[in-house]
Amino acid sequence: MDQFDVVVIGAGPAGYVAAIRAAQLGLKTACVDMFVGKDGKAALGGTCLNVGCIPSKALLDSSRQFHNLTHAFAVHGISAKDPAIDVGTMVGRKDKIVKQFTGGIAMLFKQNKVTPYFGKGRLLPGRQVEVTAADGSKQTLAASNVIIATGSVPIELPFAKFDGKHIVDNAGALDFSAVPKRLGVIGAGVIGLELGSVWKRLGSEVTIIEALPDFLAAADAEVAKAAAREFAKQGLKIELGAKLAKAEIKGQEVHLTYSTKDGDKQLVVDKLLVAVGRRAYTAGVLADGTGVQLDERGRVVVDEHCWTGVEGVWAVGDCVRGPMLAHKGSEEGIAVAELIAGKAGHVNLDTVPWVIYTEPEIAWVGKTEAQCKAENIPYRTGSFPFAAIGRAVAMNEPAGFVKMIAHADTDRILGVHLVGANVSELVAECVVAMEFKGSSEDLARIVHAHPTLSEAVHEAALAVDKRAIHKAN
Ligand code: NAD
Repeated sequence: MDQFDVVVIGAGPAGYVAAIRAAQLGLKTACVDMFVGKDGKAALGGTCLNVGCIPSKALLDSSRQFHNLTHAFAVHGISAKDPAIDVGTMVGRKDKIVKQFTGGIAMLFKQNKVTPYFGKGRLLPGRQVEVTAADGSKQTLAASNVIIATGSVPIELPFAKFDGKHIVDNAGALDFSAVPKRLGVIGAGVIGLELGSVWKRLGSEVTIIEALPDFLAAADAEVAKAAAREFAKQGLKIELGAKLAKAEIKGQEVHLTYSTKDGDKQLVVDKLLVAVGRRAYTAGVLADGTGVQLDERGRVVVDEHCWTGVEGVWAVGDCVRGPMLAHKGSEEGIAVAELIAGKAGHVNLDTVPWVIYTEPEIAWVGKTEAQCKAENIPYRTGSFPFAAIGRAVAMNEPAGFVKMIAHADTDRILGVHLVGANVSELVAECVVAMEFKGSSEDLARIVHAHPTLSEAVHEAALAVDKRAIHKAN
């Protein structure tokens, strides 16, 4: 039996990062994964690299180029005759990027001496991991430490089951062979908005059906309102307080019935993307007698150090509590590898940034105003619009704003909420400030390059104290 210091089950952003860090720290490490790519070959990188973060960003970028060509270039004095879309080329480019990065992990494993095993990993009692390969053959690995990083899978609605052709999950919506004339999306969450945007920009008529009465309930209310306004301008139809009751495939169409406060409504679409959230993937991962507990949502129960309570068994990423975000999983993977090596690994879940890669982008870190109110925290806010930022206007991207929330007594930054161009990058500065327990005064006194979009963060910090320069306070 092969013997390791660390065996990681799952090679997504939580697992592969844990494996690399463990190997860097001198631990003999293996990483087990069962994912098979579009080409039928085993692929490292998990959902994020294969059918999530990276391929969706590739298509978001392609569709943005097309949208700009058809909607935004005229104002710059640029015109093009008969712009056309070749979906095959677009999807092929996406696949190439995925292959480059999954291959990159294989290379990093080699460089760091992480041994990959391809097959389904299952934790057995006594810190052994059984690996079942695609051909059914089995082998068992022994480990001093096991890190469970099995990720999550899309939630399937019983009345709209995925068939991979008409009713699809996120992976299916990355691989349409043509632009669907009418696309229905169930769930106005992160995936629904990002992939809805991709196909809308390429010409689909997109209708998003969302069960909750509020749009983007997790985001700050003002950000959600501004984003909703921009999406409406783009022609994304979003039905709030609407619950899907039935989805029937009839020929090449999907016939939907959904209930709203105004009664039942019908909609016919060519494709239906169901993006109503994901659940931890732990089915069949634990053999009887391991002692590892699952909670009521099927997540592995862990403490603040990602320890399961069973000696040498840890769990990280989407299969445990906390937001299902690749970067949160990666940091947990690093922290656990360091804890195993006797170092002080830690992840601060209070400063995990959120990003939605729509147009405009949406990002935030820390508490919303509603959360501050609910927790009776006294606070002040400062906002600044991109419409008053020279760089944003020069880029023809004036939509959105930055809003900072700081403690009314101590001025410590409690949260920053951004909507606008490139805010996926701007949020990083806010994370650093919060991680260093910074105040709005700290950010207000830092020199920000001019002209850049980051000046909106600077001005929002000044605005907390009602001393923004380029707007009335
Ligand atoms: P989500 O939780 O973001 O959104 C799901 C939405 O579906 C919610 O608004 C919910 O109210 C709605 N919903 C649930 N049941 C419904 C029903 N029956 N009818 C209509 N609406 C319904 O989930 P997601 O968009 O599927 O994404 C899954 C996970 O992947 C999330 O945890 C997300 O954080 C992660 N993700 C992150 C990114 C990113 O960071 N940019 C991108 C993609 C996915």
